[in-house]
Amino acid sequence: MAKKIVHKDIVIIGAGMAGLTAALYAGRMNLDTLVLESGLIGGQIANAVSIENYPGFESVSGGELIGILQRQAEKFGAVIDEFDTIEKVSLKSTPKIVETEEHIYECDVVIIASGMNRRKLPLPEEKTFAGRGVHYCEMCDGHMYQNKVIAVMGGGNAALDAANFLTKYAEKIYIIHRSQFRADEVTQQRVKKNPKIEIMLQTEIKKLNGKGRLQSVDILDKNSGKLQNIAVDGIFVNIGVEPNTQLFKDELKLSDSGRIIAGEDCCTEIEGVFAAGDVREKKIRQLTTAAADGTTAALLAEKYLSKLKG
Ligand SMILES: Cc1cc2nc3c(=O)[nH]c(=O)nc-3n(C[C@H](O)[C@H](O)[C@H](O)COP(=O)(O)OP(=O)(O)OC[C@H]3O[C@@H](n4cnc5c(N)ncnc54)[C@H](O)[C@@H]3O)c2cc1C
Repeated sequence: MAKKIVHKDIVIIGAGMAGLTAALYAGRMNLDTLVLESGLIGGQIANAVSIENYPGFESVSGGELIGILQRQAEKFGAVIDEFDTIEKVSLKSTPKIVETEEHIYECDVVIIASGMNRRKLPLPEEKTFAGRGVHYCEMCDGHMYQNKVIAVMGGGNAALDAANFLTKYAEKIYIIHRSQFRADEVTQQRVKKNPKIEIMLQTEIKKLNGKGRLQSVDILDKNSGKLQNIAVDGIFVNIGVEPNTQLFKDELKLSDSGRIIAGEDCCTEIEGVFAAGDVREKKIRQLTTAAADGTTAALLAEKYLSKLKG
């Protein structure tokens, strides 16, 4: 069956915090706005149990926060489509093309808000303990571990920075890493000097244990081949992230970490193409910064469209 050709002012790729915020703003400016989502509406935060650092909410679940935002965006006319997978994009053409399984969307603006996925702990028990002792965001969940014993898994800068950050809460922190650290020398020295941190190189987590929530981990010492059990209240997994940029790698400049290069104005090197949220190369990746990017991208998209249409 031939694909249906449809024109839109703006196509937003991804319905996480950044994409939905952009949709809310774009819809409210009467722009014909479509959001395409390949997974769960809400993205990374969709299943979070309690968010305590989103302004205006003392504590809110990811589902509740995203539900409100989705309703707000839809109230202003944005359409969210979860079931039509994007096959390819052509961002440099006029109009820009976003081709899905069922449609060919022609549009003047594309806002890429496809976020990223954190690499999950590759153990079958991960699902049981996710949010109940297994965490991926130290800034989000670190405060739950006041005076507790925790582990950080990973050996890059991000993992070591996370361990340093978590010492403000935890009584003791193990850093568990399967080989030698890859972090820069200054960061390594900082963790080595920190009395709360115990470094365990050449070790691997083999099993997570606990009733209802994490209580201990079985760790393999790769040199001796011995397994040991260590009591921990939580682990923070920091073994890398995968930005969702596969679709765009032939069209846009990506940073070394695979994110889209765009400034604080979210403008990419292609006019009318914006990158918002965690998919953009930037230092802080939080809900508030994703919402800020969504806002910026939509408002500047409107200015671009007004100029284009004269
Ligand atoms: C477990 C966890 C807890 C966190 N807790 C907090 C917290 O308490 N406070 C805080 O401020 N931050 C928290 N964060 C960080 C926060 O979730 C992110 O910074 C924020 O969600 C980023 O939003 P985003 O819209 O940029 O990207 P994402 O949330 O990653 O959303 C991107 C969306 O795009 C979709 N997508 C990807 N590729 C495609 C494609 N090809 N086509 C269509 N759709 C696509 C994805 O399915 C996803 O829905 C947490 C992160 C995690 C992982």
